[in-house]
Amino acid sequence: MQPLTNKAASVDRRPMSFMEKMYLPAIAKGMFITLKHIFTRNPTIHYPEQKREFSPVFRGLQVLNRDEEGRENCTACGLCAVACPAEAITMEAAERKEGEEHLYREEKYAAKYEINMLRCIFCGLCEEACPKDAIYLSETFTPAEYSRKQFIYNKQELLIPNRITDKEAYEKAAGKRIKRETVN
Ligand code: SF4
Ligand code: SF4
Repeated sequence: MQPLTNKAASVDRRPMSFMEKMYLPAIAKGMFITLKHIFTRNPTIHYPEQKREFSPVFRGLQVLNRDEEGRENCTACGLCAVACPAEAITMEAAERKEGEEHLYREEKYAAKYEINMLRCIFCGLCEEACPKDAIYLSETFTPAEYSRKQFIYNKQELLIPNRITDKEAYEKAAGKRIKRETVN
């Protein structure tokens, strides 16, 4: 049969010599490799006691952002959904009513906003497409779940806590983004 690659190695079928039959050189070679690994640095991280530093460009779970007055930034324009190559985002728009100015920054808002994390490839295009700084990818992992339905995140799960009414939760959720905002 024709090999698919040129990586095939031919098998040595010569009869074993006396030394090879004793297996001592092979055992010594194996022990040497084992000993060598004792003195090399262990790459294992003992999670959760130890945590690996994230790359500065790590992209994790999406967060729906609020403005400095705690109002939702999203205007349900749909640009993030259009930009998403995985078609992971769906939303329904609604008109802001009188008296809701403290909840929604613009006259239109997302009454429903969902991201299917089983589809998301964390490319960050939704963040780039958004003209309102309403969505960004955080430094948080998407946690493991037991059913597919649990991977569909709704607006309440994605919305960052309100920095006016729940400052502590907001700071925890915003994480490094607060530091970046402070530096910029
Ligand atoms: S990160 Fe990429 S794949 Fe995930 S929701 Fe945003 S645009 Fe879609
Ligand atoms: S997150 Fe941004 S791009 Fe997506 S619908 Fe809201 S305002 Fe538009």
